[in-house]
Amino acid sequence: MTESRNRNVSTMRRDKRFQPRTTDSYRSPVREQGGTSCRECGAVYENGRWKWSASAEHTSQLVCPACRRILEHAPAGELWLESGEYLRTHHDEVASLLRHASADEEKLHVLERLMSIEDQPEGMRVTTTGPHTLRRLSEALVRAHHGHLTIEYRDAEGVLRARWRRD
Ligand SMILES: [Zn+2]
Repeated sequence: MTESRNRNVSTMRRDKRFQPRTTDSYRSPVREQGGTSCRECGAVYENGRWKWSASAEHTSQLVCPACRRILEHAPAGELWLESGEYLRTHHDEVASLLRHASADEEKLHVLERLMSIEDQPEGMRVTTTGPHTLRRLSEALVRAHHGHLTIEYRDAEGVLRARWRRD
């Protein structure tokens, strides 16, 4: 084998290590020890799971996956409520429903949170830290306000996207 061939092989190996950051980077750390908590929200990492806990001190601190998404503005779910007559007249009612539904989900699943509800010219944009919240919000919306809902998962982005419309 010649020198140049060897160089090619080692270049390929090097490139393989530099893979782009994917949604996997938002998963929980695999080998965190118990006694770890999130310094942003106080969620506790114990026995391989993030949970809400009132229990004592946690010496080691890091940022949980949900807070990292919030800090980095990297939602896992995005729901667009298209603007229209119905949304205009029911705006506050809809926003309040979404907040309540997400609070319920967050109690059960620490990493599933509402990130923001923004009013934009084309409608209301709702972002979440997890796909379950997005589904839950979308379902609650349709149950209470009917309308037309589409949900789409784009694998490449790892983001669950939904659109809702009621004229
Ligand atoms: Zn956190």
